Amino acid sequence: MHNLRQFTVPLQRYMAMMDLQERNERLFYKLLIDNVEELLPIVYTPTVGEACQKYGSIFRRPQGLYISLKEKGRILEVLKNWPEKNIQVIVVTDGERILGLGDLGCQGMGIPVGKLSLYTALGGVRPSVCLPITIDVGTNNKKLLDDEFYIGLRQNRATGEEYAELLEEFMSAVKQNYGEKILVQFEDFANHNAFELLAKYRTTHLVFNDDIQGTASVVLAGLIAALKVVGGTLADHTFLFLGAGEAGTGIAELIALEISKKTDAPIEETRKQVWLVDSKGLVVTSRKESLQHFKQPWAHEHEPVKELIDAVQAIKPTVLIGTSGVGRTFTKEVIEAMASFNEKPIILALSNPTSQSECTAEEAYTWSEGRAIFCSGSPFESVEYDGKILVPGQANNAYIFPGFGLGLIMSGTVRVHDDLLLAASEALAAQVTEEYYAKGLIYPPFSNIRKISANIAANVAAKSYELGLASRLPRPKDLVKHAESCMYTPVYRSYR
Ligand code: NAP
Ligand code: MN
Repeated sequence: MHNLRQFTVPLQRYMAMMDLQERNERLFYKLLIDNVEELLPIVYTPTVGEACQKYGSIFRRPQGLYISLKEKGRILEVLKNWPEKNIQVIVVTDGERILGLGDLGCQGMGIPVGKLSLYTALGGVRPSVCLPITIDVGTNNKKLLDDEFYIGLRQNRATGEEYAELLEEFMSAVKQNYGEKILVQFEDFANHNAFELLAKYRTTHLVFNDDIQGTASVVLAGLIAALKVVGGTLADHTFLFLGAGEAGTGIAELIALEISKKTDAPIEETRKQVWLVDSKGLVVTSRKESLQHFKQPWAHEHEPVKELIDAVQAIKPTVLIGTSGVGRTFTKEVIEAMASFNEKPIILALSNPTSQSECTAEEAYTWSEGRAIFCSGSPFESVEYDGKILVPGQANNAYIFPGFGLGLIMSGTVRVHDDLLLAASEALAAQVTEEYYAKGLIYPPFSNIRKISANIAANVAAKSYELGLASRLPRPKDLVKHAESCMYTPVYRSYR
C-alpha cells in the first residue's frame, strides 16, 4: 500500500494493481480485501473505465480469454486452451456498452477482469475458477479503429445472424466444456443484445446479467432500506426513471415484482406506479407502437411529455432514479422540484463513471436543503451541509453479484430465478443497521463486505433450495457458516 500510494494518478494505481495481480495473486487479493474501500474505485468503476479507454496503450498481458469472429467454428477448442480446467464463473462482454462510456470493443476486457477480481475479493470465489472472456465482433468506435494501439479486430461490429451464431456457439461450447452449473455473467452488452441473450439463455443455462438483474437487486435493497428512513412501504411510493435501458427497466421490473409479492396485486397493476423517461421523453401509451419491447410494459396512459423537469412536475415522484448514462441531467430545477413536494426525496444518480453521474452528492444535498436521501453509482465524498456531515451511499453492484454468485455456486444452483434476486436484496437491506440509518446511509459500509456477501449467499442459497433449483445435497443446516467456510482467503499455508 505504501508503494501504491506513491502514485497520484488513479490509472497508475490501476496498472500497479494489475501488475501485482500478475506477479503475486495472493498478495493482490490480500491488499484488495484489507483495503477494499480505497482500492475498489481503482480496480472497478471509475478507474477501470479509463483503463478500458486506454487499454491498448497500457496493455501488458491478455488477462483473460479473447474469442473473436475468426474463431467461429472452433470456440470449444479455444476454451480448452485456457490453462485452468475447473471453471465455475465466466464473466463475458462484447464491449459494446462499457459502463456509460459506450462501445470500447475488445478493450472492454478490463470489465470482466475487474468483476472477477471482485468475485474473489468480495465473494470469496477462488481465483482459479474464474474466467474473464471478451467476445470480439469488431467495434463501431471510429476513434479506436483508427488508433494504432487498438488490440481488437479492425472492422465494424458483426450483427444479426452472424452475431447470434457466434454467441450460440459460445454458449454451447461453455456448457459442453464446463457442465450444467457453469455460471455465465453477461456484462456490458448493449441493450439491443442484452435483453435477448438473457431471455434466450435463462431457461437453458445458469446466466445472470449484472447490468439488468444485479443493478435491480442492489437498487431494490437500497430502496427497502430507505423505507426505514422515509417510512411507509414500497407500495406507497411513485418512481420516476431517467433512462429506460437495461438498468432502468431491470430495476423497474424488480420493484414492481416486490410490490406485487408484498401486496398480492398483479404485476400489471404494480407497474403503474413506475414511470420511465427515455431520450424521447416520458414513456406513454401513445408511443407504444414505436417502443422497443422491453419498454412496452412501462407505457402508461398520459399525455406526451418531452423534458424530465416536466415529467417530474406531472408525475410528482417520491423516488427519482437516473440510469441514462448522461451526466448533469438532474439539474437544480429538477432537484428543487423533488424537494418541493417530498419531505425526504429519494434521489439515485446511478450513471457511471463519475463524469456521467446525473448530479453530484453536493448538488443533491445543497439543492434539497440537506433533505435528500442520495446515493450514486460512482463514489462521492461526504458533504458538509448546515453543520451536518452527510454521507452519500454507493449503489454499487459489487454489493450483490459476488455474494449472489457464491450462493449459486455453493448450492449447485442450475437456473437463476427472479426470487433469488429478491432474496439477495432483502439480505443486503437487512445488513443496514440503526447506526448507519442515523447517518442517512441506505447501504452498509464496504469494509464489512465479506460478511455481507456471506449473508447474501446464504439467503440466495436458501431460496434456491426452497425452489428446488439447488443440486448440492444435502442442504447444509447453517448456510451462513457454510458460505463462510467456502470462501477463499489469501493466507499462506503453514508448512511447519
Ligand atoms: P442503456 O441500456 O443504454 O440505457 C440507457 C437509457 O438512457 C436508454 O433508455 C436511453 O434512451 C436513455 N437516454 C440516453 N440519453 C438520454 C437523454 N439525454 N435523456 C433521457 N434518456 C436518455 O444503458 P444501461 O445499461 O441502462 O446503463 C445506463 C447507465 O446506468 C450507465 O451509465 C451505467 O454505468 C449505469 N449503471 C449504474 C449501475 C449502478 O450504479 N449500480 C448499474 C448499472 C448501470 P433511448 O432508449 O431512447 O435510447
Ligand atoms: Mn456492467
